This record gives sequence, C-alpha cells and structure tokens, in this order.
Amino acid sequence: ADYALYFAKHHNKSEPVFFSQEHERLVFENSAIEQGLRHADLEKEMSVEFQPVLDLHAGHTSGLEALARWYSPTLGNVRPDRFIQIAENTGIIGRLSEVLFRKAVTEACQWPGKLTLSFNLSAVSLNTPGAVSRLLSIARRAGFPLSRLVFEITESAVLKDFETALEVLEEIKTAGARIAIDDFGTGFSSLAYVHRLPIDALKVDRSFVRDVVHNEKSANVLRSILDLCENMSLSCVVEGVETQEQFDLISDLGAGQIQGFYYSKPLSGGDTHMVLQIEFHDQLMSLAS
Ligand code: C2E
Ligand code: MG
Ligand code: MG
Ligand code: MG
Repeated sequence: ADYALYFAKHHNKSEPVFFSQEHERLVFENSAIEQGLRHADLEKEMSVEFQPVLDLHAGHTSGLEALARWYSPTLGNVRPDRFIQIAENTGIIGRLSEVLFRKAVTEACQWPGKLTLSFNLSAVSLNTPGAVSRLLSIARRAGFPLSRLVFEITESAVLKDFETALEVLEEIKTAGARIAIDDFGTGFSSLAYVHRLPIDALKVDRSFVRDVVHNEKSANVLRSILDLCENMSLSCVVEGVETQEQFDLISDLGAGQIQGFYYSKPLSGGDTHMVLQIEFHDQLMSLAS
C-alpha cells in the first residue's frame, strides 16, 4: 500500500502510463490470438521448423528440436511463446500438439542416421493422463523409433502436479523415449528435484549464455551445471549460443552439445532435409577417403 501511495504521489501526469497501455494491448492481442486459434485450420496453418543441435565431441548434428510455427490468415505469423500458452488455457493444446507432433515425426522419418527428434511437451500434456500416450502412438504408427525421441519439459510444468507428471515421465521412459529439462536454471528449485526425475538431459537456458563472455559469474554457473551433468551422467545442451566468442568460451568449459544461431537457426522441413543430406553426405565421403 505504501508503494502505491508513493507511485500515485510521484507519477508525472503528463507522461503516458505505459503499464496500463501495454496491459490493454496484451489483453486485446490475447483475445485476437484466442479467436484465431479457435477458428484455425490447424493442419493448414500450423507447421514445424527444426533447429539442429551440434554435438561438440562428435563434430556433427546429433538431433533437432521441433519448433511450432503458426501462420494465421488474419494475424500473420504468431510466435509460439505467444500462442502456446493461450492454446493451453483454452484447451486447444491437446489437438494442437498432436497436429504438430505428427508433422514433426513425419519429417523426422526422412532424416538420415540416428538423429534424434526433440519435441516440447506442454505443461498441460504433462499433467493430462493419456495425452502423451497419444503422442507415443503417433510415433509408433509413423514408424519413428521411440529411442530417437526426446520430450522437452519445463520445471514449472513438472511442479504443477508432481505425482501426475512423474507417472507421465515414467510412461515415456518405459516406451524407450528420453526426457530433457528445458530452460534449466530459470526455475526456483532446479537442484531440489532434478535427482527425483527420470531425466536424460538438461538444456541450459540461454540467459546464462547471453552474458557469459562479460560476466564471470555466468561462466561459473555454466561450469557448475556442466559438472552437475557430468556427475549425474546427464547429457547437457547449452542453448542460445549466438557468437564465435560465446562458442569458444562454452567449448572451453567442456560443453558436450550446443544449440543456437551460431550453429543454425531453426529451418523449414525442406531446408532441414537438404542440410542434413549435405552434412551426412560429406561425412560419408571423408570416411571413404
Ligand atoms: P524453447 O523450447 O526453449 O526453444 C528455443 C527457442 O529459442 C526457440 O524460439 C528458438 O528459435 C530460440 N533460439 C534458438 N537459438 C537461439 C539463439 O541463438 N538466440 C536466440 N535469441 N534465440 C534462439 P521459438 O521457436 O520462438 O520458441 C519459443 C518457445 O515456445 C520454445 O522455447 C518452447 O517453450 C515453445 N514452443 C515452441 N514450439 C513448441 C511446441 O511445439 N509445443 C510446445 N508445447 N511449446 C513449444
Ligand atoms: Mg525446447
Ligand atoms: Mg529452451
Ligand atoms: Mg524457452
């Protein structure tokens, strides 16, 4: 209450109130997104892009993460961090995930080698029994090996209903697929639960990478997370590597895998196919010589 009084007293009346304008704009946009989603032809308007993950020890792409893309005829391109949450709140996420997953798996069936497909699991899917079973049967029906499938989950999704989430995670493991914690380090209790979950990998949030070059503390945190992974036999993907400087520093820290614009931006299905053909073709050629 004291703060409210402070702001009321000191607010300069000639200046626009950014907060309420921004808030109004968001409410308006959210309802437009919600309407757009409700009327969307998901099969037509939704697509997936794929962002390669570089394995630093192997020196090649080890897998790709599927990222949702929505082109709405009324709204244009809408970013997933805007529409996924609204799809969750409106109950559209179940059907949406199935559409996205089917598209992702269909593409991944065309990829060479042992490349993995990572798919972001929404909080709702993680807390709705049956949702993951349906995704797993989509993969089985498409003939994509479940051992090459990685589900990315976030800490907050797990903590919503720990017991249900744990059951779903066990189901994933029993099916032979893998689990990665996404945006690791941004939650509040990362260390408190990480050993209680049947996980295979951590994906370090890109906020640690952003200032790693100029901030020794970020480098220390990164080093600690890499040690944690080493000690717990978890794979570790460092996300959001954009520059040569960041890349050099992160390789020096001993990171096993990186993902980010430095290596590749997310690619359309067609471009992914082409890039993988070239990458794995060259590798075969150099092995032969
Ligand atoms: P995420 O799973 O952490 O995905 C990584 C995001 O970081 C992607 O944004 C990617 O384009 C972006 N990114 C990758 N490398 C870099 C980099 O070097 N620099 C910067 N600045 N950004 C980079 P995108 O595609 O906008 O996705 C945002 C989030 O939306 C994802 O974060 C994920 O939480 C969610 N999302 C995306 N697709 C799906 C989906 O199919 N299902 C669900 N449930 N969530 C999804
Ligand atoms: Mg992800
Ligand atoms: Mg992430
Ligand atoms: Mg994220």
